[in-house]
Amino acid sequence: MKQSLNIVKVGGAILEDNDSLKAFTDAFAEIKGAKLLIHGGGRSATRFASRLGIETTMVNGRRITDDAMLEVVTMVYGGDVNRRLVASLQSLSCNAIGLTGADLNLVTSRRRPPVDGIDYGNVGDVVSINSKAFKDLLSIGAVPVIAPLTHDMNGHLLNTNADTMAGEIASGLAEIFDVTLTFCFEKNGVLSDSANDDSVIPLIDRQLFARLREEKVVEGGMIPKLDNAFKAIDRGVRQVKIIHYSRISTPGAGTTIV
Ligand code: ADP
Repeated sequence: MKQSLNIVKVGGAILEDNDSLKAFTDAFAEIKGAKLLIHGGGRSATRFASRLGIETTMVNGRRITDDAMLEVVTMVYGGDVNRRLVASLQSLSCNAIGLTGADLNLVTSRRRPPVDGIDYGNVGDVVSINSKAFKDLLSIGAVPVIAPLTHDMNGHLLNTNADTMAGEIASGLAEIFDVTLTFCFEKNGVLSDSANDDSVIPLIDRQLFARLREEKVVEGGMIPKLDNAFKAIDRGVRQVKIIHYSRISTPGAGTTIV
């Protein structure tokens, strides 16, 4: 029987505010057994960039990562956000270790070629996961906290979407672990009415997803998140949940993807 592994992705908005970060780390520290965290941080990157006088350009909801922005995201994701999460988890006796995809060659990627004439810059699409290194870290009781930065084989760091990275890591590790993937954010789950946080849709299959998308009930960042969720299920992840950051261990809460 495969060992259980909980993989959690936490969205950037939660990391902006100390109270929500603490509420999240409290809930994450409660999860029993092997676990791993992947975090975002886009809003912090935008804020830091503006403090440095660097303009943020987004196209189709995605950050253009020129060389100056790569420096910013490396400092913010790999530094500030990652280390604050690690420190908070350590204060709760959760043995976190902060890493990027480059450490131990955990996640390699390839620079994305221009898409429809748009060059996203130093952005990486995941190529491979070092399952053995993840397994070794987990076997010593470490809790990897992974920043959304990867590297290519020419020694370049690349900005990588955290939801995609979580899906890829979960899918890669599903070969050796019984993986549950949880995307947590500031809402209670996937909502049927965006103005009503009690309107959580408990179960979403592909058919329902297609309908919700057509009816524009699901929009923006939720579309790629759900695409990643279904892809992970297809590649052997046992369960994917989308849930509020303080309820990651609450049975029956949030949306389950089937
Ligand atoms: P994060 O990086 O925090 O995970 P994203 O912006 O990638 O967040 O995706 C989550 C966002 O998707 C929510 O903040 C919300 O604005 C949006 N969204 C769109 N449709 C829905 C829906 N039906 N239910 C919940 N959130 C939705």
